Amino acid sequence: MTSVFPVTELPDLLSRIALAIPDIREWVCGLHAAHSRAAVRVCSLDLPSLNARFPVELLHQTGTVTVPRVPFPPVSDFDLPEFEAMAQMDMAGITFGNMYFVQENFAAAEGVHVHEFVHVVQWQELGLRDFLLTYGLGIVQHGYAGAPLEQIAFGAQATFESGGNDDGLAERVRRHASSERDAAIEVYRSNGIVVR
Ligand SMILES: [Zn+2]
Repeated sequence: MTSVFPVTELPDLLSRIALAIPDIREWVCGLHAAHSRAAVRVCSLDLPSLNARFPVELLHQTGTVTVPRVPFPPVSDFDLPEFEAMAQMDMAGITFGNMYFVQENFAAAEGVHVHEFVHVVQWQELGLRDFLLTYGLGIVQHGYAGAPLEQIAFGAQATFESGGNDDGLAERVRRHASSERDAAIEVYRSNGIVVR
């Protein structure tokens, strides 16, 4: 395993990720409540690429918010200072459940919407806890751009931006997310962390 963190510290870090999940859940609930009025339903946007790629019901159930700076959980407060560098990144977008945030300079960048909607599908497939466990491990092992749940999103974005079709994308994203989740749970278990 190529880890961006020392392997000797891995069990402790994975344990803190698992322990932070209730705090992150509460933070996400607060985030949704704070932005529910400002969120625009994705189905009301004129983004043909999303209609072509994702189930219409999910487009109806998902909101997007344009913001000056995308939100990020207060990871240091949640005993996860290892993710502070990520919190400080100037991201184009970020997704929490069925709400995604786009930095205002990218509001019209359809590829960013495609990228974030891949994450919406992942959140729906995995649920909050498994998404966070899988995403967090991916960042620990491979860094932001190399994390599996990011790679498939960047891939879908690149395919869109190069003008390609992406038949079966949503189903591919679901299968990929489940398989990454199963692999991640095994890593937590093998490090002595009970996650279910
Ligand atoms: Zn992403």
